[in-house]
Amino acid sequence: MRILVIEDERELARHICSALTRSGHLPSAIHDGAAGLQAALNDPPDLIVLDLGLPSLNGFGVLEKLRQMQSPARVIILTARGDVENRIKGLNAGADDYLAKPFAMDELLARVEALGRRSSISAAEDVLKVADLHLDVHRRKVWRGNTVIALSPRELELLHVLMQEPGRVFSRTELSERVWQRDHAYDTRTVEIFIVRLRKKIDAGFDQALIHTVRSVGYTIKAA
Ligand code: CA
Repeated sequence: MRILVIEDERELARHICSALTRSGHLPSAIHDGAAGLQAALNDPPDLIVLDLGLPSLNGFGVLEKLRQMQSPARVIILTARGDVENRIKGLNAGADDYLAKPFAMDELLARVEALGRRSSISAAEDVLKVADLHLDVHRRKVWRGNTVIALSPRELELLHVLMQEPGRVFSRTELSERVWQRDHAYDTRTVEIFIVRLRKKIDAGFDQALIHTVRSVGYTIKAA
């Protein structure tokens, strides 16, 4: 995968790049937010490892601009350990995953592989449908009625898992495992944030809500 590392700690950026290279990826590093954003827009990488504290433009600014420009790049943000607030802010701003500093390179590689995997989306399916909501699996396009809906890669995968079995209730743990491949560090908050993000895009402004919370069990998608 082509991976852009936007991290101003040069030593850390160098370590990340050499670990990624050893795993067969093609990383490049930029140590400044605005320059990183420019590089990501000019020549979109498959994945971006994005530090939050950056000179000239911080990670949130980079994220917002990327999502605004509908960049298809997957983004892993680097947060300080225990910094739940910024992690949540980053996920809300459109990040696909996060990693808390300091982290083991193996953990970074595992996150990168998990995001790089084109998930469980198989070639057998075509267009999934729930009420007027459609997901074209091959083209990775979503629309509701005549409205095209832009989703980030992780939002799309979450929606895909839900839409494969309309009416089935998925627990947060299962969604965490299937979408984020986070089996040991199971993280309900991330799932909740992404459900909120999906609802804003899929249900807000439409007469019928399709994503439903089943109290103390989980989430399901279905026509009312
Ligand atoms: Ca930094």
